Amino acid sequence: MKSILVIGGGFAGVWSAAGAVRVARAHGVPASELTVTLVSSGDDLVIRPRLYEADPESMRVALDRVLGPIGVRRIAATVTDIDTTTRTVTALGRDAHPLALDYDRLVLATGSQLVRPTLPGNQHLFDVDTLTGAAALDHHLRRLPERPAHAGQFTAVVVGAGFTGLEIATELTGRLDELTPDGSRPRVLLVQRTCELGPELGPGPRPHITAVVDELGIEKRLNTTVEKVTADTVTLSDGEVIPAATVIWTAGMTASPLTARIPGQHDRLGRLAVDQYLRVAGVSDVYAAGDTAAAEAEAGHTVMQSCQHAVPLGKTAGHNVAAGLLGLEQVPFAPDPYVTCLDLGPAGAVVTAGWDRTVQTTGPEAKQLKQQINADWIYPPIDDATTILTLADYHTTWPTADVSA
Ligand SMILES: Cc1cc2nc3c(=O)[nH]c(=O)nc-3n(C[C@H](O)[C@H](O)[C@H](O)COP(=O)(O)OP(=O)(O)OC[C@H]3O[C@@H](n4cnc5c(N)ncnc54)[C@H](O)[C@@H]3O)c2cc1C
Repeated sequence: MKSILVIGGGFAGVWSAAGAVRVARAHGVPASELTVTLVSSGDDLVIRPRLYEADPESMRVALDRVLGPIGVRRIAATVTDIDTTTRTVTALGRDAHPLALDYDRLVLATGSQLVRPTLPGNQHLFDVDTLTGAAALDHHLRRLPERPAHAGQFTAVVVGAGFTGLEIATELTGRLDELTPDGSRPRVLLVQRTCELGPELGPGPRPHITAVVDELGIEKRLNTTVEKVTADTVTLSDGEVIPAATVIWTAGMTASPLTARIPGQHDRLGRLAVDQYLRVAGVSDVYAAGDTAAAEAEAGHTVMQSCQHAVPLGKTAGHNVAAGLLGLEQVPFAPDPYVTCLDLGPAGAVVTAGWDRTVQTTGPEAKQLKQQINADWIYPPIDDATTILTLADYHTTWPTADVSA
């Protein structure tokens, strides 16, 4: 019997497992000859792209409802080490019991994480990177009106004006407005280390983003960073002290620390160099998918740490890991054209196409697309083996491919 082990129950891990089962079933290989096991720390697929929204605890899908129907075995455990020479993974089970898991082929799909700063008072920083972090912020915001009145009670400072920082800052203008009693004025500030908003989003959408930020009354602090945080204040690098009950850190992402357990080349985000089949360069029985993989999307462009790329990376890695083990042909990774859809809260959204991020649509029309992506397209089907396995085909396109057509 051969075994495929997928580590990670996010978008890439779930679609890798489904992609592998799909290949095995399509070639009549019974589960007694090829097992697919997924190990993940949690019981749910967390819909990370929605964690800036209200009610983040609802942003998840039970893994068993996706994996159960297609016969993927699931282990709830946190992987602590990977030994690629002995093909063994070490993990800690729910009961803190150590586990040793063997594999013939491995898919590493453990995602990415926010780099939290070490500045004084960092325990007061909120984030929207994990379900736990986003839930803590959500509870904190809901309780703001109950706190004794103080300066900064309804002030939120968002650190980092990248994709996530812009989404949470614009979202907060609406949420704080609802929470703030008449007569008080909520404040949202965006702190950005460089001289412009959305540095990695490029010049295409920036004029629109800047206009929206100004229109929503979000105060910008550019060329600035945070030096210190307390429960009620934040001190910026230029000495300004802002009374603020809420400080959210969004700056800096890195690939899962487990990537460091795999030999080979890593990029500046810690992602593993992979070939066109998503095999880790130099470790042919290990594949990487999602935010752990520095795969080429198209000539000269590496995938983004995004759901948009994690899904097709998962499907392709899943296909190839099973195909490789069964002696079938592997397929090169070929994602749909690159598109972004940035939520701008009450001001709608902005959709761009291509690596130069040419603006396609803005305002309510773009917001409708964002809501469709968030509430529908990124969710895997549940309790339905046929639909799950049909969608696990690496040919299946991401619906936003239409945007750039
Ligand atoms: C607020 C926010 C907004 C975003 N907006 C967008 C957007 O608009 N569009 C977009 O395309 N992308 C967006 N993203 C990025 C997107 O969410 C990620 O790129 C995507 O989730 C990556 O998928 P993944 O499967 O690689 O990793 P993840 O979704 O991070 O899943 C990783 C999985 O691995 C598991 N895991 C990690 N470590 C271990 C371990 N040691 N042992 C066992 N299991 C482990 C985790 O529990 C999890 O199940 C956003 C992210 C955030 C946080």
